[in-house]
Amino acid sequence: MNRRKLLSVGALLALPGVGAALPARAQGADDMDMPSFPPPAGATVLFNGQDLSKWVSRRGGGPAAWTLRDGYMEVKPGSGDIITSQTFMDYQLHVEFWLPLMAQAQGQARANSGVYNQGRIEVQVLDSYGQPPKDNEAGGIYKVAVPSRNASRKPEKWQSYDIAYRAPRHDANGRQTAKGHITVFHNGLLIHNNVEFDAQVTTSGLEGDVTKPGPILLQDHGNLVRFRNVWIIPSPTA
Ligand code: MG
Repeated sequence: MNRRKLLSVGALLALPGVGAALPARAQGADDMDMPSFPPPAGATVLFNGQDLSKWVSRRGGGPAAWTLRDGYMEVKPGSGDIITSQTFMDYQLHVEFWLPLMAQAQGQARANSGVYNQGRIEVQVLDSYGQPPKDNEAGGIYKVAVPSRNASRKPEKWQSYDIAYRAPRHDANGRQTAKGHITVFHNGLLIHNNVEFDAQVTTSGLEGDVTKPGPILLQDHGNLVRFRNVWIIPSPTA
């Protein structure tokens, strides 16, 4: 059901039978927070709800200026993207996020943020609830790959991404010798299975030397998106 359309044509709900599916829809998991578990032993905790010490501002590298509150961090619009001080090549990453309801906003303006891998490859964060999957909607690898399904929950519910990332490889001359690979689970459901990408594919991520490790980047797209329980397990790089 296209909830966004229902909101914009609310008068239709007054017609007999039209709104009948809504209560059934509201009973599903879409209405529930994803459960949150402590990081596994050996994980590198990037954010545990207490402080932003592992993060810096993308702009200038000073302290991350996002708001810290009640165990989560929230985008402070205009303060810019934040990045981890530590950089990574290959890893498993867990991120939990919460999207505000922006009922009047449409498309890319609706609770937009993003999780950038190696500072470059964005897994889109967006309120796409009920929308068809696209490469710029929730779970899309921006401009690279359409998710196999839209596993979004409703706004104002905690959701999760679990990402397995392998950076592209290059030879000593900087020539790409192997594509990157990314697998993504959205709210526990597989949405990208070992998708290949080229190093040069990036949108608003960090530029620079694509042969080097990069940070995890969380995007300030001007919306009050929240994050919590962020951890990473770097893989032995071969
Ligand atoms: Mg985004």
